[in-house]
Amino acid sequence: MQTSFGTGQKIKETTDLVLTDSLTGLGNHRRFYDKIERLINDRSDDPAPFAVAILDLDGFKPINDLFGHKAGDDILAQVAMRLRASMDSYSAVCRIGADEFGCLFPMVFSEDAVLNKARMLIEILSAPYDVGDRTARLSASVGCSLFYSGDETTEILVNKAETALYHAKRSGRGQVFVYTRSMEEAAKRVTRIEQALRRAISAGEVEPHFQPIVDLKTRRTIGFETLARWTDRDLGVVSPAVFIPIAEERGIIGPLSQLVLRKATEAAKSWPKDLFLAFNLSPSQLVDQNTGLHILSILDRSGFDPRRLEIEITETGLMNDPASAEKILEDLRRVGIRVSLDDFGTGQSSLGRLREFHFDKLKIDRTFVSSILDDRPSEHIIRAILAMCEGLGMDVVAEGIEQEAQAQRLIEFGCRGGQGYLFGKPADADATLAYLRDSFRNPRHAAV
Ligand code: C2E
Ligand code: CA
Ligand code: CA
Repeated sequence: MQTSFGTGQKIKETTDLVLTDSLTGLGNHRRFYDKIERLINDRSDDPAPFAVAILDLDGFKPINDLFGHKAGDDILAQVAMRLRASMDSYSAVCRIGADEFGCLFPMVFSEDAVLNKARMLIEILSAPYDVGDRTARLSASVGCSLFYSGDETTEILVNKAETALYHAKRSGRGQVFVYTRSMEEAAKRVTRIEQALRRAISAGEVEPHFQPIVDLKTRRTIGFETLARWTDRDLGVVSPAVFIPIAEERGIIGPLSQLVLRKATEAAKSWPKDLFLAFNLSPSQLVDQNTGLHILSILDRSGFDPRRLEIEITETGLMNDPASAEKILEDLRRVGIRVSLDDFGTGQSSLGRLREFHFDKLKIDRTFVSSILDDRPSEHIIRAILAMCEGLGMDVVAEGIEQEAQAQRLIEFGCRGGQGYLFGKPADADATLAYLRDSFRNPRHAAV
């Protein structure tokens, strides 16, 4: 009797170990699947739905890098404790990935109810964490799915929650979504675009277009911004606002960017030498230490003068990993490349950043320019930005100028540079060259 009891106990202990996450003491992904499986069986003749939620910490990796792995583990243990404490007696939480947690809510019967639960969890996780004598803050994204019919397997249910989570992650931090059919279609479309884009990049089919940047007073063209354009055989024209984020997310922004820069510098070589070429860098490229090398080697090979190149970055690019971004920008600056702060005035901007980093130029976002004529606050903000740039010795370009009256107002406020449909839409290399030749013949419109 004794022995058989002992063996039973041992088996239970071993099973517990196999199904337990050693860091947090929560169940692991196998236990999560087991629990769902069992609940599906229980509900086979009971029509009540139930809910599954997958919670993923936002920006855990940078915290891990910043505070160290030991502190990262401590934070995960604290997260687990908070989640466990917030479960009622029916519900369960497991750690199913590095910074991913699965929750099972047998008594949650509707989408609204699971949304509320998930929002509460995010709230609980948002309070600061103790890391030695410092504190860290975290947010989390959640994807949920509901079990409605016996046709759904554990795998389908978890996949649906993962699809909703992917959607939440793409929408920014701290979001909650419940799975819908259209999300799956959107996810499939992203994959289709990714595959087509990979092919287009290796076939060299993404093209640079160029939009003029002018001196507002004289209307002389002083440079061009490079904007990537892609027309796929099957998908047709795909906007950069769609394919650039996908390229970033799927890790192909590097090769895409190199292709466009190579073609852009080739084209810009035949322009008058006093025109600059502006080029956008994505936030993820400022985390990759190879970015600088790639740019320098492209300039080297094409024989394009680095002092004519301007790199446009947004503040998001500086926030992810400021030390890495600073190093890359320093390497570029050393050879004479200039650095512009793009989209200034949108959600990401902070004045502190202007103290920490030196920018050669600032681009005022289109949202301010478009409301400058009928919105007093925008007017004041633009005036303040211009005064600040003057004090800091930065050039300024106002983006998205569409009307003459906007240009006049900006000149009145002392803004030097402008860009927008009023002066020219982005055009391909041949059309840009033709535009420059035309301006040459008609020097009233350009300095070339
Ligand atoms: P961005 O850098 O802010 O570029 C300016 C966007 O405003 C461009 O959109 C341009 O076509 C548009 N625009 C310019 N003037 C006007 C105007 O007067 N009115 C209006 N309504 N729009 C105007 P586009 O070409 O669709 O590019 C969107 C974004 O995609 C860019 O925003 C940039 O962030 C990104 N992007 C484009 N090409 C590249 C690239 O080669 N690399 C990277 N990393 N990002 C790129
Ligand atoms: Ca830009
Ligand atoms: Ca911009």
